[in-house]
Amino acid sequence: EMFGQLTSGLESAWNKLKGEEVLTKENITEPMRDIRRALLEADVSLPVARRFVQSVSEQAVGVGLIRGVKPDQQLVKIVRDELVKLMGGEVSELVFAKSGPTVILLAGLQGVGKTTVCAKLAFYLKKQGKSCMLVAADVYRPAAIDQLVILGEQVKVPVYTAGTDTKPSDIAKQGLQEAKKKNTDVVIVDTAGRLQIDKAMMDELKEVKRAVNPTEVLLVVDAMTGQEAAGLVTAFNLEIGITGAILTKLDGDSRGGAALSVREVSGKPIKLVGRGERMEDLEPFYPDRMAGRILGMGDVLSFVEKAQEVMRQEDAEDLQKKIMSTKFDFNDFLKQTRAVAQMGSMSRVLGMIPGMGKVTPAQIREAEKSLKIMEGMIEAMTPG
Ligand code: GDP
Repeated sequence: EMFGQLTSGLESAWNKLKGEEVLTKENITEPMRDIRRALLEADVSLPVARRFVQSVSEQAVGVGLIRGVKPDQQLVKIVRDELVKLMGGEVSELVFAKSGPTVILLAGLQGVGKTTVCAKLAFYLKKQGKSCMLVAADVYRPAAIDQLVILGEQVKVPVYTAGTDTKPSDIAKQGLQEAKKKNTDVVIVDTAGRLQIDKAMMDELKEVKRAVNPTEVLLVVDAMTGQEAAGLVTAFNLEIGITGAILTKLDGDSRGGAALSVREVSGKPIKLVGRGERMEDLEPFYPDRMAGRILGMGDVLSFVEKAQEVMRQEDAEDLQKKIMSTKFDFNDFLKQTRAVAQMGSMSRVLGMIPGMGKVTPAQIREAEKSLKIMEGMIEAMTPG
């Protein structure tokens, strides 16, 4: 479970304050140690964890007694706000060029999910009504070009390729020209990844950047690499100048260090996050929702948004009318159930509902099974 360890580490901090009347320098000492330990275990760097705890302590001791709010709840609130701040506060939107195609340059080390992100990003922007083109400028691995072409077909976005004999900066330039001819809104350039940072990669990126003057230069980093991801963002920014990061594999067992550290360490925002292998698994990075998730308080906003996306408007209106007139029947129920199933695996949906974070995989499988059986039963009924 993502952030699971961090969440329970923080929980032990609140638990130590149960029964206290106010927050004092004395009674927060232990909880602060818990918070620090939880952050370090989540692979947040020591200076960041230190600063975080210091700021939380100062606020906690200074905070007055609020009627009806217990000290442990107050601390949760302070930590929540500080987490949001740590991750950059507001969501950091993608920037688009005022005229002509917007060029988005994607960089990243091998295996982080960069090629997948190219297609996911095109899919994401297409949903917003923007036409896209992918440009295959990773000339060292022919397989990478093939993979991009396949993914492009999957999301129905053209892919500009020029083989492996042309310079990446020339490929990018040609791709951009092609996009201009076609009046394409966004050009996404896939560049070569390496196993490690090296000078040749940086030089090539600089050259591609000079050639196409991108509006966004985004570094793709893997959430599983923790604070190392934050270090990479810093290094790439110093070397080539980037506008932000895309954090992938947040669906895995990432401990949270990357999500928490990138902004603080590099000064650059995480703009988007990848949360699975499917094309639709890319979304904006919302610091407030991420904080909610870390605290184990669920993520109602994401849930509602997903639900709205799945349920088409007319269906929703129709349903509302039916419920008002109490004509809600099994077929409607089935439709709703399917809408929920479409939103992603049951476990992910449940994880977004407050208090449901602790449902076990066995319980989820059980629920999914009952859902299937119910579906079958309803389908077998003749409409009355
Ligand atoms: P590249 O070498 O950086 O271009 O990496 P790829 O795009 O080829 O991705 C490497 C592997 O990571 C593939 O198996 C992807 O399906 C997988 N992957 C990419 N993004 C995500 C993600 O957000 N979540 C998960 N679980 N897997 C991902």
